[in-house]
Amino acid sequence: MERPDGQARLPGPIALWWIGEAAVDGDVVKTVAERVAREFAREVAVQTPIERPAGTLDAKRRQHSSREMLKWLVAHAPADASRVLGLTDVDLFIPVLTFVFGEAQLEGVAAVVSAARLAAPADRRLTAARLAREAVHELGHTFGLVHCDALEDEDGRAAPCVMARSPSVRAVDAKSARLCPGCRARYVTFQQDGSHVYREHENPHR
Ligand SMILES: [Zn+2]
Ligand SMILES: [Zn+2]
Repeated sequence: MERPDGQARLPGPIALWWIGEAAVDGDVVKTVAERVAREFAREVAVQTPIERPAGTLDAKRRQHSSREMLKWLVAHAPADASRVLGLTDVDLFIPVLTFVFGEAQLEGVAAVVSAARLAAPADRRLTAARLAREAVHELGHTFGLVHCDALEDEDGRAAPCVMARSPSVRAVDAKSARLCPGCRARYVTFQQDGSHVYREHENPHR
């Protein structure tokens, strides 16, 4: 988890960019945009970036560095956006892990989520649901939320909070699409103060 240079920006929409190699699936992106907008009560602007990330491929691993992807997103983020969320279809890694579904900067500007291991080829709704969950999870980190063990979401459903760690696709499918009441309260505080007191629980994540 990287820390950004300077303060994260709060006002402005979340820019959602498809930065994958294959053609964009507009319906999937729209679903992700709707779920993210609802969960964070923020405007989401689906945009087409002018270029695709360069310099992110690790030739030995044949995977893309999510750290480099985040750097690229920060460098290209629109000035009026509070956050930029990149959706891609290339496989992402961080050095200590075989792969990650996504990564984000804690209290930062950028988040990235990959469909490489989450896509269900025969089921676009499932693909969209998984990407939406991981998009909410990674954006949650940019709003200062950390990993959470709550087992009931804010609708009272018995399912792990969307901020639960998800080391496997099975874990992604098992968790809620929504924040738990505790994470919701922390998000509200973060919106008001720009940060909160939970930083000491910061930990590596995926
Ligand atoms: Zn939670
Ligand atoms: Zn995480």
